[in-house]
Amino acid sequence: RVKKRTANNPPPAKYGGRHTVTLIPGDGIGPELLNHVRELFRFCCVPVDFEIVRVDSSASSEDDINNAVTAIKHLYANVMHCQSLPGVPTRHKDVDVIIIRENTEGEYSNLEHENVPGVVESLKIITRVNSLRIAEYAFNLAREKGRRKVTAVHKANIMKLGDGLFLQSCKEVAAGYPDITFDNMIPQQFDVMVMPNLYGNVVSNVCAGLVGGPGLVPGVNYGKDYAVFETATRNTGKSIANKNIANPTATLLASCLMLDHLKLHAYAKMIRKAVLKTLSETQLHTADLGGQGTTSEVVHTIMQEIQRGGPRTSEQ
Ligand code: ATP
Repeated sequence: RVKKRTANNPPPAKYGGRHTVTLIPGDGIGPELLNHVRELFRFCCVPVDFEIVRVDSSASSEDDINNAVTAIKHLYANVMHCQSLPGVPTRHKDVDVIIIRENTEGEYSNLEHENVPGVVESLKIITRVNSLRIAEYAFNLAREKGRRKVTAVHKANIMKLGDGLFLQSCKEVAAGYPDITFDNMIPQQFDVMVMPNLYGNVVSNVCAGLVGGPGLVPGVNYGKDYAVFETATRNTGKSIANKNIANPTATLLASCLMLDHLKLHAYAKMIRKAVLKTLSETQLHTADLGGQGTTSEVVHTIMQEIQRGGPRTSEQ
């Protein structure tokens, strides 16, 4: 978790150019993978100090959880860049889609009640203000990244009012971005996709599958004051925890996105380059990619790759 002053602007560095970042190891494979991130950051002399907060399913105080939930509630945009990776053979080539998921409402409003025994109503909340906010985020990001098209994913033919309002909000925002095409069909070629919360969950999981699985793709959540960097699919991988077999790629790439966010671009570039090179040019793959490599073998190969690259320069 990185404290931010305004949307998409990181806080200034403190104490001799160092940043303080909250690290939440969480459940499953989280703690071991984040230990590798810490190891790699130490190895690369990254000027980031972690403040560790334990929020997991067993040992969290009510306060820890409430603080984390309050902070995370303010993160309204979940962003996942789903891109084919060199060295990971998949059925579909050249996937390069940015998925933007509304992160605060929709089906995740936690408003359910049993009207009469056996009849449950679950409320899906769509508001104009949050739909405009996420649409604005999507179009702005598309423009910033030089993308040409935004596609809204919806089911307004069935949910006429709720998804209808989402779609209408997207159309209104699109009018302010004549340089970017807007559509709302279900086309084959996606560029940037924007959608309510639940569809975001489904689409991002499917897209992670298209490029090689949950071990590969990083994700980011942005709000006005904070950003959270994590694996895109948010799987905890409980069944493979503490076996040294999880693929560290998604977590490491998430840490690179965090470094970019802090404008520590040279460190981000150095680590990302070594991660991708290890993935594409060595035979060392973890079991999820059909290999036999362990997590720590992959991380050590990445370190060797960084070592080979020589000292970090600002152009890296
Ligand atoms: P949860 O809700 O606890 O995350 P889940 O069943 O939705 O559970 P997981 O079991 O966490 O999902 O993950 C789904 C699958 O993806 C599992 O087979 C898991 O082993 C695999 N997986 C997730 N992350 C990784 C990773 N980093 N490396 C390798 N495999 C992974």
